[in-house]
Amino acid sequence: MTSVAKGPTRLEGKCLCESIIYEIKGDARPVVNCHCSRCRRHTGHFMAATAAAVADVTISGETLRWYDATDQVQYGFCGKCGSTLFWRTARRSDLMSIAAGTLTPPTGLKTVAAIYADYGSDYHAYDSTIPTHGEDFPR
Ligand SMILES: [Zn+2]
Ligand SMILES: [Zn+2]
Repeated sequence: MTSVAKGPTRLEGKCLCESIIYEIKGDARPVVNCHCSRCRRHTGHFMAATAAAVADVTISGETLRWYDATDQVQYGFCGKCGSTLFWRTARRSDLMSIAAGTLTPPTGLKTVAAIYADYGSDYHAYDSTIPTHGEDFPR
């Protein structure tokens, strides 16, 4: 282990049907839970995502599809099994968010924050052990 802020230097993940397999060769950011309404609907709950440099992520498979949620934001998912896999924004085109649950454990990652908590549904019990931010969270 290097530091708390950095994950292992190599991680792998895949979708449910295993048509899409990916690798992260560099550092992976700690996991952030995004409760915004788009992530809530896309994932069916919330997006628990790590992130990595686009240059460090290698994706294999023919079934990856991108959904344009806005003209700035896209969600990547498997067109065969529907797994939520990735998120990216034109504002940070060097970075890719990766749905942490699709990584093959152990990930070595920690969940460090919840963001856009104003938009979480009323059934959700927030984790009081991590900082919880509203819409004002700086991105
Ligand atoms: Zn799949
Ligand atoms: Zn979100």
